[in-house]
Amino acid sequence: MNPIRVLDRSIAERIAAGEVVERPASVVKELVENSLDAGALRITVEVEGAGLRLIRVSDDGAGIPAEEVPLAFERFATSKIERLEDLVAIQSYGFRGEALPSIAAVARVTLTTRTAGAPAATRAVVVGGQMETVTSHGAPTGTVVEVAALFFNTPARMKFLKSPAREQALIAEAVQRAAMARPEVAFALTVDGREAARWPTAAPGMRAADVLAAGDAGELIPIEGSVPSGRLTGWLGRLERCRTSRAGEFFFVNGRPVHSALLRRAVEQGYAQLLPVGRYPSCALFLVVVPASVDVNVHPRKLEVRFRNESGVFGAVVRTVREALLAAAPVRWVGGPPEAMRPSAASTADPVADPIPLALEAREPAAAYPATARRLPLLRPIGQLLNTYILAEGPDGLYLVDQHAAHERVLYERLLAARRRGRLTSQTLALPLTVDLTPAQMALVAGYGDHLAQIGLDAEPFGARTVVLRAVPAGPAGAAPEALLQRVLGALADGAGADRDDAATLERLAIATACHTAVRAGDSLSPEAIATLLTDLAATDDPFTCFHGRPTVVAVPTEHLERWFLRR
Ligand code: ADP
Ligand code: MG
Repeated sequence: MNPIRVLDRSIAERIAAGEVVERPASVVKELVENSLDAGALRITVEVEGAGLRLIRVSDDGAGIPAEEVPLAFERFATSKIERLEDLVAIQSYGFRGEALPSIAAVARVTLTTRTAGAPAATRAVVVGGQMETVTSHGAPTGTVVEVAALFFNTPARMKFLKSPAREQALIAEAVQRAAMARPEVAFALTVDGREAARWPTAAPGMRAADVLAAGDAGELIPIEGSVPSGRLTGWLGRLERCRTSRAGEFFFVNGRPVHSALLRRAVEQGYAQLLPVGRYPSCALFLVVVPASVDVNVHPRKLEVRFRNESGVFGAVVRTVREALLAAAPVRWVGGPPEAMRPSAASTADPVADPIPLALEAREPAAAYPATARRLPLLRPIGQLLNTYILAEGPDGLYLVDQHAAHERVLYERLLAARRRGRLTSQTLALPLTVDLTPAQMALVAGYGDHLAQIGLDAEPFGARTVVLRAVPAGPAGAAPEALLQRVLGALADGAGADRDDAATLERLAIATACHTAVRAGDSLSPEAIATLLTDLAATDDPFTCFHGRPTVVAVPTEHLERWFLRR
């Protein structure tokens, strides 16, 4: 490491200022970051009394040369930057030289440190900002910082602390975030003499998988993509693992754990429509970008970052998340996906295929996202089961397709695609139909006439309680036009007030129309109809999503059949 020097005042003043030591967890964060900056490969955090009695962070890093130890406790003394330009390319966690003096000002700090070549360790005791002793000791290479009696001389500070349990939880979170950021470093956390967490060194990404899914990477969707001036990797939690808070969202930029409203919004938008309202994804996203494309000097505790190209990063994250989710949620495999599709720890880029039905709430117009879901493979129709499920042979097993859900998906996408192209295919009724409606329904027809026309429904008020129905959306014959109108008006009534905009209203109408006109469970289908339905389904943007939270496709891997028949 470079020698510790006191920063020029002009430089110190350009660094985001503010309180560094707010609570015990901020002390832990600063000390752990110092250990990481010192190149430690093993970091132990010991805490007593929620960090107020004792915080001890031990590392096997480079240590501090004896003659520099007093300097480390001076304000703006740092070995990490010299010039302002260094800030642009900052790779270290710390750079303001403020943590040690700030901590030592409000506690009793004992720092014991030894560099590799030194004959002995140096121990400095600083109490309430006063250097009490500097002595020589036997100790291994590395640094141990003990912070005792935190806030002993600033009792007012105590009032701002939460309960001991909460402060303890915040400490554990701080250690966990650092551990997720740096899987190549071994971490251990001991609380009141008992081991609370231990993370041995792990392969890149695997520590985060450990935190998100207790090491079961199969529970997670790997993501990988590019962002302006960099790359994005990480894990997304499966939809059924969604949470009621944002506690499972983790973001890292160039190895630094950050809170980023931008990244949070981007991920949540990527999940839009796939998660119910009030549910949040779990995720760990790692952005590695050219240092100059991100400013880490915007927050005193460096918890936030600012991207130079915010909208570019936002869009790239939304897209990458969206594509990974759609690609990873295809067929629901009975008993797990085929072996060839399973993720291995080595290839995190391999999309996992242990899918789940996508619970859909029509919240965002699906057309807003370029859907690049994994396609349905080429299927050879076998026939129908219970007049409800289509059986088909796929390259990797037996596929069962819910005929109603599948047809609904096909019709829905067709309706929206036709509307987008402005070529609506509606079917004029040979004889216009008069339909009696309630006053509330009449009001809907009057208020949403345009929307109805856009999906191909031509209904015109005729008198106070009657409409004339002249055309319905083109589609399977025999979809009783009057019942369709009733169904669509029902959907409009449900959506009144809930839909935010035209797109949401149209989507609601398209779903109602598709649901009404699709073949039903129990309908017998001809071999031609089955073949057409499978081909049409394969051509949809999102063949695996049903509007009602059920799977469209379920499959049995061939290996499973072989196991059932004791062939392997
Ligand atoms: P900063 O991290 O911003 O440089 P700090 O007050 O946290 O400021 O630390 C001051 C200096 O003390 C660091 O620049 C570093 O040289 C040294 N230092 C602190 N902790 C350690 C450690 N665990 N191992 C080695 N050096 C350390
Ligand atoms: Mg520091």
